[in-house]
Amino acid sequence: MAAPALDPVSTADRLAAAGERVTRQRLLVADALAAVGRRVTAQDLYDRLRRRDPRIGRATVFRTLEALVVAGVARRLEQDGHVYGYVACRPEHHHHLACDRCGRVEEIEEAYITPVAERLAADRGFKVDDARLDFYGLCARCAVEVGSVSSSG
Ligand SMILES: [Zn+2]
Ligand SMILES: [Zn+2]
Repeated sequence: MAAPALDPVSTADRLAAAGERVTRQRLLVADALAAVGRRVTAQDLYDRLRRRDPRIGRATVFRTLEALVVAGVARRLEQDGHVYGYVACRPEHHHHLACDRCGRVEEIEEAYITPVAERLAADRGFKVDDARLDFYGLCARCAVEVGSVSSSG
């Protein structure tokens, strides 16, 4: 339920392993993203960070998010209105359940996808090496709320 806590040491390692610079500000951005625990736009994250540290630059936040994506520390998820939402990610390969209502993002392990890959191999002879699959919809809490509350925006 809680956001995946990003160990600052491993975040630094992951950035370095991807050939990305490791700076205090980059770790700050990664930490702030993990603390949000749901997907946020680069602008949202910048607004949050600026409240804590007014010296942080907008370009730094935007560029850092891209560096985090390259390093696998964060992933981009689609969001309405042609903007990306960013979410902090564990190193293990996984997929996402992204709630369109509250923005909550849960990680699901590869085991959910394995049967699909196996079926593709059997039916189509295609050997899946990598699957990037995220699911969009309503989280359990929102599904209950939507079900119990009569239509609200
Ligand atoms: Zn993830
Ligand atoms: Zn939700």
